[in-house]
Amino acid sequence: MKLAKRLSKLGTESAFQVLVKAKALEAQGRQIIHLEIGEPDFPTPKAVIDSAKQALDEGYTHYCGPSGLNELRAAIATEVGQTRGISVDPDWVVITPGAKPIMFYLILAVVDDGDEVITPNPGFPIYESMINFVGGKPVSLPLVEEHDFRFRVEDLKQRVTSKTRLIIINSPQNPTGGVLTEGDLEAIADIARDKDIWILSDEIYGKILYEGKHHSISSFPDMLARTVILDGFSKTYAMTGWRLGYGIMHPDLQTHISTLVTNSVSCTAPFVQRAGLVALTHTKKEVHQMVEEFRSRRDFVWKRLNAIPGIHCVCPPGAFYAFPNIRSFGMNSADFADYLLDKAGVAVLSGASFGAYGEGFIRLSYANSMENLANALDRIEEATRQISR
Ligand code: PLP
Repeated sequence: MKLAKRLSKLGTESAFQVLVKAKALEAQGRQIIHLEIGEPDFPTPKAVIDSAKQALDEGYTHYCGPSGLNELRAAIATEVGQTRGISVDPDWVVITPGAKPIMFYLILAVVDDGDEVITPNPGFPIYESMINFVGGKPVSLPLVEEHDFRFRVEDLKQRVTSKTRLIIINSPQNPTGGVLTEGDLEAIADIARDKDIWILSDEIYGKILYEGKHHSISSFPDMLARTVILDGFSKTYAMTGWRLGYGIMHPDLQTHISTLVTNSVSCTAPFVQRAGLVALTHTKKEVHQMVEEFRSRRDFVWKRLNAIPGIHCVCPPGAFYAFPNIRSFGMNSADFADYLLDKAGVAVLSGASFGAYGEGFIRLSYANSMENLANALDRIEEATRQISR
């Protein structure tokens, strides 16, 4: 079987691999606590489900335009405008099946062979995978534990070259839960304007924030036209399985991204888009309750982790991940994650699966019940006690 060479450059997300491993152990009768997958454990709000059913009855069951339904594009433009303090026209919006395709399409659209893209490390693995896939060169920007998992401006400056086409930022961040400050964004904006660089601002966790207010680089002077905002419904509205996301970008780029939609998936399911409209406009209470519950869990997990001898964890200000340092146990992250799965029946991800700078850490998703989290932390405490340090 002859396959294209580029396939060897494609990476993946280890969360799905660990899930398979954990499921295999469950099939053998083991009781596994799942802290590997990054999705809210809450049900999708009822009003959203009802609206999808109604949309099916109303006949939203055929193709629509590649950029999405006009009513949802308009509602997204309003929402993004209000939450980022910018003015967004509906023709800046492309709706996609989940937000992930925006990464895929944007990288296809702006990165040529040999172009460099600065990516957060540790960071969402699909960025690097896609950059490699299209023949670009990922350039890792370290996120540093001592700096609350933010980058150092001098590290950023050192990595910018004449070949830098795109800088990817993700705040609040997966896997660390870190959040960039206005000062960090200002530093990126200065470089982007000066060197004419695109920005992909992955703001998928923008509403899952426990301190301060969400800042988007798009709201800095002259930045909107060179920024692509990536956002979606998976995390904020507990809609991971619905596959609904979007990108906001200048119309000159939007038309190309829309053509990529036509070439790949044609459009996003219209009845799902109708449900998205209700998610945006009628779920304020549910979103607030979910974020408050995440906050309690974050506080609990963070305190319990730091009480375990040998573990140190920065308090994550956003998203629903904790990224504790496990170096003192003398194992690499992958071995430590395997150990926790085998010994304690707790599925977590190796920090190194998010890039080399994630080595020495593991990622725990606290999108799980308090009861399961308490149980998982008891088990982790017991299992780590048995490692001689
Ligand atoms: N961006 C980040 C940082 C993520 O963690 C995820 C999902 O895990 C996504 C984007 C994609 O989300 P979706 O395609 O479900 O909208």
